[in-house]
Amino acid sequence: MATSPNDISDVDLGWLWAQLAVERRFRRRAQPADSRLQGHAVVVGGGTAGYLTALTLITHCPRLRVSLVESPGIPIIGVGEATVPGILPFLHNWLAIDVAELYREVQPTWKLGIRFEWGKPAPYYFNAPFDWARDSGGILGSLQFTGSVNDMTFGSMLMSGDRVPIVRNGATLHSALQQVPIAYHLDNARFVAALKNIALARGVTYVPGTVLDVRRRGSAVGEIAAILLEHGVEIAGDLFVDCSGFRGRLITQVMGAQAVTYNSSLFTNKAIVFELPHHGLIKPYTTATTMRSGWTWNIPQKDCDHCGYVFSDEFASDDEAVKEATERFGAFLKDPRAVSFRSGRIDRPWIGNVVAIGNAQGFVEPLESTALMMITISLQLLIELLGREDELSELSDLYNRATCQLWDGLRWFLSIHYKYNKQVDSEFWESARRDTDIAGAEDILRIFRQRSPLRFRSRSLRVAVDRLEPFFYGLAGVDTILLGQGVTDDVMPSTEHEAQWRERKERLMTLVTHCLTMTEVLQTDDLFDRIQPLVSAVPRMRPARSISASDSSSPWW
Ligand SMILES: Cc1cc2nc3c(=O)[nH]c(=O)nc-3n(C[C@H](O)[C@H](O)[C@H](O)COP(=O)(O)OP(=O)(O)OC[C@H]3O[C@@H](n4cnc5c(N)ncnc54)[C@H](O)[C@@H]3O)c2cc1C
Repeated sequence: MATSPNDISDVDLGWLWAQLAVERRFRRRAQPADSRLQGHAVVVGGGTAGYLTALTLITHCPRLRVSLVESPGIPIIGVGEATVPGILPFLHNWLAIDVAELYREVQPTWKLGIRFEWGKPAPYYFNAPFDWARDSGGILGSLQFTGSVNDMTFGSMLMSGDRVPIVRNGATLHSALQQVPIAYHLDNARFVAALKNIALARGVTYVPGTVLDVRRRGSAVGEIAAILLEHGVEIAGDLFVDCSGFRGRLITQVMGAQAVTYNSSLFTNKAIVFELPHHGLIKPYTTATTMRSGWTWNIPQKDCDHCGYVFSDEFASDDEAVKEATERFGAFLKDPRAVSFRSGRIDRPWIGNVVAIGNAQGFVEPLESTALMMITISLQLLIELLGREDELSELSDLYNRATCQLWDGLRWFLSIHYKYNKQVDSEFWESARRDTDIAGAEDILRIFRQRSPLRFRSRSLRVAVDRLEPFFYGLAGVDTILLGQGVTDDVMPSTEHEAQWRERKERLMTLVTHCLTMTEVLQTDDLFDRIQPLVSAVPRMRPARSISASDSSSPWW
């Protein structure tokens, strides 16, 4: 046991690593795929989706020429800052973006999970940590002996203590980053600017211009031969990637993809975006706080907290949302701005030689930080497919089925956050509890109510539930979100005695007090050296769960 704040015995550290159940992980290097695709790829859109797409194509399709067209008159959405752990391997391995460069240009902070001020009446919160499948603290003991899920893992305890998994032992720092997954909080403006610089340096051609029309190529399914910009400029291409945001300038307006709306499950359609001072406390998690007509996100950045009140304009006006947020959180640092959005997807994200990525493909309201994750998953799937065949149209069915299933899974996963949140009584929340369509989650909910937590049940039940589970967050994710909201009290009893569980919890809590804060981490000289082993030991990206699901942990987290 620790004897002073600066002294932890080696025994304790060894014990910690054992508790955290180290997994052997493998590096996937960013290397050119075996893509035979050649010719010219034209990406339309210069937001996060556009640049991640251009970088993916230029990195993984060595024979392809890549251009990115961006309208000078249509701004990017300018939000999208919270991520999930798959972003690290994606940026640093898949795209081979240098760790030091990203930290220099973007200054990301670390996210260990989401703190939900959600579920039961306030004051109440529960953590959804990224290490939720590891159970290093013990969720059964946590529920039985404390009444909450918050002591279920070391990552969750770090969140509650505002610490990150770097343990200080005297003058030495020990990294637990390989055991406690982290994601990034990325300042959107800095992130997109950095991606643009890297893309241009790697040979992507930047073309300012607005797509006004297209020239079609005759074929059975219909393909685009060229896009037409202002002043008669024409850009011919072989593959067109539509990253034009909610407009869907090519995939919807030209190729005729149809909208599939999620309005019956997800009622919000607007956000008021604002900034708050954090007074030096950079919290290592995103916070989702229930509000009268929706919820707010708080994404801690280096200089201040980036926030947004997500609501439904049927239940509040912009002014009412600003007023409520100001009364709740204090004065904003600068003028707020409003962003409109819609939750849903298109029916065919790949038609002919046009593929949609980003908001042009789909979007679910931002509660679980899913959009960048879907961009990364879609791009990897696209490259896997492009790498195998020359005939684009033959591959589109698989891509369309897989991405649509993933979006639908996210819709149902989010729907259970809305259906069971009893934190606030208001017109919006009464309507959400009464009317939210959770049809796609009902099978798993029925079993959950009788056999909670699902992750500890017999292998045969877990495999069966896995087949039903449409969310791809894994059974630990389902358990955490439902138990965190108190959906059932009928939970399997702890297999440990209380004293045994509490002893482990106290030891983990002692270690938490020896861990660094995010502010301290940003000040350490060898920050990049500490990230580097993590980057080289991140999980391999695996194919989408909806295609092949077999384990109870999530492949993307
Ligand atoms: C309120 C809110 C909060 C969010 N929070 C998160 C989050 O925390 N985490 C997360 O992962 N995601 C989040 N997202 C989603 C995320 O912001 C987006 O998915 C992501 O930024 C990708 O956007 P995009 O590149 O598809 O579109 P945009 O950023 O809208 O970019 C569209 C681009 O297309 C160009 N364009 C449009 N039409 C034309 C044309 N005719 N010709 C040429 N160019 C054109 C525009 O100039 C622009 O460059 C959030 C979204 C919203 C609405």
